[in-house]
Amino acid sequence: MKKLTSKIKKGTYENIFMDCPYCGRECIFNRISDLKTIMPITQDLKCEYCEKIFWASYDRVTEAKYKWFLNDLSLLKKNKNYGLYILALCQACEIFMHQAIINKLIDINPEYRNDEGYFYHNNKICADAYNEIYNSFCEKSLKDITKNELDDGIKYKKCTFDKLRNLFLWVYDDARKNKLPSLVKLREDKIEKNFCILKNTDINKTRNNMVHKNAYRPSIDDIQKYKELVKCLYWMGSYLDVKDSVEYLNRRKKPNSYDVEIINI
Ligand SMILES: [Zn+2]
Repeated sequence: MKKLTSKIKKGTYENIFMDCPYCGRECIFNRISDLKTIMPITQDLKCEYCEKIFWASYDRVTEAKYKWFLNDLSLLKKNKNYGLYILALCQACEIFMHQAIINKLIDINPEYRNDEGYFYHNNKICADAYNEIYNSFCEKSLKDITKNELDDGIKYKKCTFDKLRNLFLWVYDDARKNKLPSLVKLREDKIEKNFCILKNTDINKTRNNMVHKNAYRPSIDDIQKYKELVKCLYWMGSYLDVKDSVEYLNRRKKPNSYDVEIINI
C-alpha cells in the first residue's frame, strides 16, 4: 500500500501536531522523546491510534532558538495558556539577549579567529576551539567582559534576566546609537523605542511572581501588556541579525567585515 503523507498543522519548539491521514485523529509527536531530533523531520511516523505508518511534510525549524519561543506564543494565547505564555515570552527574552551577546562577543569577534578566519584557541580549531572559547567566556565576570565599564563581579554563566539585560545594553550601545554600518539607514526613533521596550520591560517580574510562592495567575490583560515586547524581539532579532552560534561555527570570518562566507571543510 502506498504510504500517505500528512501536512504538519503546527510545529512548535517541543511538539509537532498533525492529523493521521488514515484515521483522521490528531497525533502529537514530541521532538525529543518521539522524534529524537531537533532538526526538521525526515522519517516515518506511526499513528498513536491506528498504528499505520505515514510521512510528514512541511516541518520547519527556525534559525534561532529564541524565535521558537516567540512563534509558540500564538498557540498558547489561543489555548488561553496565559501562564505558559508568560514563561515562554520571558524565556524568549533571555535566550535572545544571551544569543545576541554571544554573537557579538564571540561568533563574529575576529579576536578568536586565525589568519584563515577559523575559530582558533590553544592549538585547537573550529568546534573544539569554539567550545573552549565559549566555556572560558562563561567563567568571566561582567566586570572583566566589559573591561570595568560594568562594575559587576558576577560570572556570565550565573547571569539571569537583569544581569543579562545590563550586559546586552552595554554590548549593543553602538547599535543603539546607530553607529553600526549595517544599521545606518534605520530611523533612529525606531531603534530607541525598541531598546527602551527591552530596557523597561517587567516580564521577568511577572514570571517570578508566577513561579515562586505567590503562584500568580496571569490574565489576558497581562498578555496584552506585552504585545509591544513581542514585536520588539522580532524587530531586534532581525536588525541585529541574531542567530544560533552554529550558523557561524564552520564559516570563515572575513577580516574587517561583519559578513561571513561559507566554506567547505
Ligand atoms: Zn491513525
